[in-house]
Amino acid sequence: MSPAQGIEFEIRSTAEPTPAARRAELLAAPGFGAVFTDHMATIRWTEDAGWHDARIEPYAPITLDPAAAVFHYGQEIFEGLKAYAQPDGSVVAFRPEANAARFNRSAARLAMPELPEAAFVRALELLVTQDRAWVPTADGHSLYLRPFMIATQRGLGVNRPSTSYLFMVIASPVAGYFGGEVHPVTVWLSQDYTRAAPGGTGEAKCGGNYAAAFAGQQQALDHDCDQVVWLDAAERRWVEEMGGMNLFFVHGSGADARIMTPATTGSLLQGVTRDSLLKLGPDLGIPSYEGKISVDEWRDGCASGEITEVFACGTAAVITPVGAVRGADGDWTIGDGGPGPVTMRLRHELVGIQYGSKSDRYGWLHRLG
Ligand SMILES: *Cc1c(COP(=O)(O)O)cnc(C)c1O
Repeated sequence: MSPAQGIEFEIRSTAEPTPAARRAELLAAPGFGAVFTDHMATIRWTEDAGWHDARIEPYAPITLDPAAAVFHYGQEIFEGLKAYAQPDGSVVAFRPEANAARFNRSAARLAMPELPEAAFVRALELLVTQDRAWVPTADGHSLYLRPFMIATQRGLGVNRPSTSYLFMVIASPVAGYFGGEVHPVTVWLSQDYTRAAPGGTGEAKCGGNYAAAFAGQQQALDHDCDQVVWLDAAERRWVEEMGGMNLFFVHGSGADARIMTPATTGSLLQGVTRDSLLKLGPDLGIPSYEGKISVDEWRDGCASGEITEVFACGTAAVITPVGAVRGADGDWTIGDGGPGPVTMRLRHELVGIQYGSKSDRYGWLHRLG
């Protein structure tokens, strides 16, 4: 039993752990989000009892009533963060408190109960400790952690949110997101669809945002692009973000380089990676700021050479260069289309902090096990 602000976890170990040889085989080529560890964390919430029945238990399917609210009205939120094996043998997470805080902001927006941050982090610590053998040590690999919460109340009434919820954490050993190597992506500017509107759920990390994004992502693929870039819902003019990642624009080059990311307007997701780069850039002599950029300014900036690089950032793929843009109003290339020096330097520094080869000067690493 381990207390986390009054929430005690019971540990139920699996009677059938994956044999070591099979685990090694899975860890050799895990892909992304396809392999899962032996255990999961669960905590239940009801109006009467609040948070209770916290457990680490064997990874297994869950049983829900077909009338459970999550299936009908999409009350679901999630988080994504990674655990990294360190050179000294410990395992750390990158800024898990930031994910816990964002989870509760998402919960508030979806009218779900907030989970004490200490319980969120404790669930990660206990799950990673239990499944320690699943933390990859190969270069660039990590253990992706997926906390989420669903509405479980049975009934189809829509006048009020669910009165019961299930919080879970599952863990998945992963290789790099876009195949591990740093390949610039080509992006499609979505004019037909938008991801989020003022007052909507764009700032919340909820499954519904993704459900509504697949049609736009499919259009991107249909146009031979890798990812969709979302524009603002009102004018379809201002750049917001890319798929499930935030965007940065590099202005100038060499000693004059600076990085700009679209300011939070309520409709874009406030990435932990985005926030980290806003802090890291200036320390490397690369001023950073939040701003606003239109599609025209993006195209013209690339033509004039003022915009030298563009990259996307997020937990899964860390930093990914954007090489080219396609849209209804034309196609253009960013720089020479390859990964730029500012992009690669920021990537190298951030990955270095996460894997423990650079000093953790901001106290971003949290020991999990
Ligand atoms: C999770 C997410 C991001 C990136 O956030 P990180 O905390 O950096 O991983 C960006 N955009 C969307 C839509 C997301 O869901």
